[in-house]
Amino acid sequence: MTISNDLLDKLACPVCKKKLNYESDNNRLACKICLLAFPIVDEIPVLLVSEAEKIK
Ligand SMILES: [Zn+2]
Repeated sequence: MTISNDLLDKLACPVCKKKLNYESDNNRLACKICLLAFPIVDEIPVLLVSEAEKIK
C-alpha cells in the first residue's frame, strides 16, 4: 500500500504546517522538524498529535 504523491503534497504537519515525509518502511508520515510520526490507518493519514509517535 502506498500513498500518492498528489495526496502527500496536500498534507501538512498539524503542528508546524510543514510537509510530511512518507516512510514506506513504517507506513507512516513523519515530520522531521517536530520529530513526530503520524500513522496511516486504512489508507487515511491520521494527523492527530495525540496519535503521533515520537521519532527517535
Ligand atoms: Zn511538524
